[in-house]
Amino acid sequence: MKKNDSKEFGGSGELRNLRVLVDSAPADGRPIIIAGPCSAESEEQLMDCGHQLARCGGVHIFRAGLWKPRTHPGGFEGVGERGIVWLQHVKSSTSLPTATEVATAAHVEAALDGGIDVLWLGARTTANPFAVQDVADAIAARHADVAVLVKNPVSPDVELWYGALQRIFRAGVRRLAAVHRGFATASNTPYRNAPLWQIPIELKRRCPGLPILVDPSHIGGQRDMVASLSQQALDMGFDGLMIESHPTPDTALSDSAQQITPSTLMQMLSQLSIRGTSDSNRELAALRQLIDQCDDELLQALSRRMDVVRQIGQLKRQMGMPIVQTDRFGQILDKRIAQAEEFGLRPDFINLIFQTVHQEAVALQL
Ligand code: PEP
Ligand code: MN
Repeated sequence: MKKNDSKEFGGSGELRNLRVLVDSAPADGRPIIIAGPCSAESEEQLMDCGHQLARCGGVHIFRAGLWKPRTHPGGFEGVGERGIVWLQHVKSSTSLPTATEVATAAHVEAALDGGIDVLWLGARTTANPFAVQDVADAIAARHADVAVLVKNPVSPDVELWYGALQRIFRAGVRRLAAVHRGFATASNTPYRNAPLWQIPIELKRRCPGLPILVDPSHIGGQRDMVASLSQQALDMGFDGLMIESHPTPDTALSDSAQQITPSTLMQMLSQLSIRGTSDSNRELAALRQLIDQCDDELLQALSRRMDVVRQIGQLKRQMGMPIVQTDRFGQILDKRIAQAEEFGLRPDFINLIFQTVHQEAVALQL
């Protein structure tokens, strides 16, 4: 690991040629699969889980949380350091590399001393730059060639996520990947953590060489959502999955509702369809030309609309009329949402578009 190699990654393509995580990862572009229980609970549970997952063949890295950041004190906060030897036993008897979550310098020390192959920063840690820096410094001090995964922060904030990745990158880590585990949002959604796919997609746009895995367990929060979220993630082209799996999910000490048994996982993995990597042909190129034409028309229409908005703004100023006219905005919104289906568009999408257009119109009139 080169400690002085602290250039930024992302647009500069710094990560493009990096080895992905661990040597056992598939080299052929197939998704990397990380699986194991939310928490290590006992040596028996861990060994049972590890053996079942190793038999399934499709799992590349075994995960188990030792230190669990819990919202309330007094609950199960993980078995801590004493679980490291259990992970060593899983590794020596299954050959699966091991992964655990670290949130402090002491966790990093203990995990590296114990030969853990992959460390991950959890969502609550990524949200705290001081904690991320402590973890990064502890990794840098060891010059360890360890792989590090950075989960997205709890809040939908791509900058915090990117910043945490940069801190770990600057610590010299080159086996680096992100994990998308969904975001806490105010609005009601069927998810435990809303996927808000545009955020990991934006991260991918900024850092094309950065592998991004998806954690359908923490996104869905329920067993029966894991398969469809996994398929969606692969269909979009994400690089792998981190899935919570427990031999007896109903008795799990944390995240019971979202864990699936190793045999369910095995069946699910065998049913996932995986797309190839080819990215162009003549038909696609022709369709993309049509998209470009549509986008030209959209920009022209938006430009014309905003010219009229500016004229209206001047008139309102002359008339002493307030900029925001909620009745008029309400009418526009209702009318266009009502038309959405006639045009084959989803009402929620049209709502979002017109909210955004109106927001810009108000800003231009200020
Ligand atoms: C976990 O992976 O068990 C975990 C605590 O995840 P997150 O940080 O995404 O909540
Ligand atoms: Mn969990």
